[in-house]
Amino acid sequence: MDLANRPLKILTVDDDAVDRLFLRRTLQDTGLKLADIAEVDCGKAAIAALDNAFYDCVFLDYRLPDLNGLQLVQQIRAQGTLTPLVVLTGQGDQETAVALMKAGASDYVDKSRLNTDALAHCIRSALRIYEAEQAARQAQQEVQVSNALLLQQNQALEEHRQEIQRQNLEVMRAYRLKSEFLATMSHELRTPLNAIIGFSQLLARRREERWTQQQTEMVKRIYSNAHNLLGLLNEILDFSKLEAQRLELRPGPVNLAELAENTIAEMHSLAEQKSLKLSLQLHLKDPMIINDPLRLRQIFINLLSNGIKFTDAGSVLLQISSAPGAPTDEVLITVTDTGSGIASDDLPYIFEAFRQVDQSHSRRHGGTGLGLAIVEAIVALMGGKIWAESAPQVGSTFYVQFPRVVQTAS
Ligand code: ADP
Repeated sequence: MDLANRPLKILTVDDDAVDRLFLRRTLQDTGLKLADIAEVDCGKAAIAALDNAFYDCVFLDYRLPDLNGLQLVQQIRAQGTLTPLVVLTGQGDQETAVALMKAGASDYVDKSRLNTDALAHCIRSALRIYEAEQAARQAQQEVQVSNALLLQQNQALEEHRQEIQRQNLEVMRAYRLKSEFLATMSHELRTPLNAIIGFSQLLARRREERWTQQQTEMVKRIYSNAHNLLGLLNEILDFSKLEAQRLELRPGPVNLAELAENTIAEMHSLAEQKSLKLSLQLHLKDPMIINDPLRLRQIFINLLSNGIKFTDAGSVLLQISSAPGAPTDEVLITVTDTGSGIASDDLPYIFEAFRQVDQSHSRRHGGTGLGLAIVEAIVALMGGKIWAESAPQVGSTFYVQFPRVVQTAS
C-alpha cells in the first residue's frame, strides 16, 4: 500500500488559531492528496481525537496550554498509538528535539522554517518509516506465530518420542518374557517327550511278541511324531538361547569326514521316502578340525533336511572342501539341491527368525522357520559365514565357511 498516493487524514494540534491556519495552508500547498485536516487546540483534545478516528499523520505544537509536546508524545505512545507524530518546535532547541525523538516522535520541524517543501518531505518520510515499521511488526508477528507453531510441533514430537520409548521398553519386556517362556516351556516339554520316545522305542522292540501289524505301525508313528516334535522343541530352545545370547560352542577335535558320513547315513531314509538321491563328496586332505561336533551336526541336519524338504525330485548333495582363496585355513561346506528354489526377492530374508517363504496356513512343508536363523548364529559363533544362491524351479545352494580351528569366546 502506497500511503503517499491516497488522500491523507491529518490532525493538527495547536492552540494558536493563526498558526493552525498557516499550517493548513502550507499543507494544502504541498501538493499531497489530502482527505481531511482536523484541528484541535490542546493535548487532551488530541488524545481524544486519536481515540476516535484514524489519522495518517499528526502535527503538534510543542507549546500547548495543558501539556508540552514531550508529555503529549509520551502519552500518545503509552496508549499504543503508532501514528506518525511530527512536533513543531521552537528555534534551535536541539535538546528538546532529541528528547522528543527518544519519546517516540517521528520527526520535528522548526516552526520558523515551516514551508511546503519541508512539510511534504517530513510527511513522506514519516509515512515511509511508519510503513516500514508496520511491515517489520507484521513480520515479527508472523515469526512469533511460526515460533509458537514450531514449539507446539516440537512438544508433540517430544511426546511422540517419549511414547515410542515407552512402547519400546514394553516391547523389550514382552520380548524377554517371551524368550523366557519359550525356554522354560521347551525345556519342560522335552522331559515327557523323551519319555514318550523312550517308551515307544521299547514298545516297538517288543512288537513281534504281542502286536498286530496295525498296532506296530501305530507305535512307530508315535515314535516318529515324538521325534519330530523333539526336533522342533530343540529349535525353539536353541532360539531362545540365541536371543538371550546364551548359545555357546564346545569345541574339540572332530573328524569332519566321519561326521558328514554319519549324518548322511542318518538322513538316507528321509531322502528315500521322496526318492531323492542324497550324496556326499569329500575334498578334504585332512578331515580333522577343532569345532563343536554337536553344532556341526546341527548345521548339516538343518541344511540337508531343508534340501530334502524343499525338493520333490532329483538330488541333494553335500560337499566339503577347503575354502578356495580363503585368507586363513578354512573349510567350505555346500549343500546343493534340485528343489523349488527361492525367489531373489525372498533370498535376503530367509536367515531371519520365523521367516518362511510360504507363510500361508496351507503351506506344504512343516517347520518353525527358525532353522536357518539358528544355523546362521552358530556359524557366526564359529567365526564363519553363511550365504545362499538360488534359482526358482532349479534349486538352491547353501554355503557355510568357517576356520578349521574355532575359538571359544572367552
Ligand atoms: P523352516 O525350514 O523351518 O521353514 P528355515 O529357517 O530352515 O525354516 O528356512 C526358512 C525358509 O527358507 C523356509 O521356510 C523356506 O521358505 C526357505 N528355504 C530354506 N532352505 C530352502 C531350500 N533348500 N530350498 C528352498 N527354500 C528353502
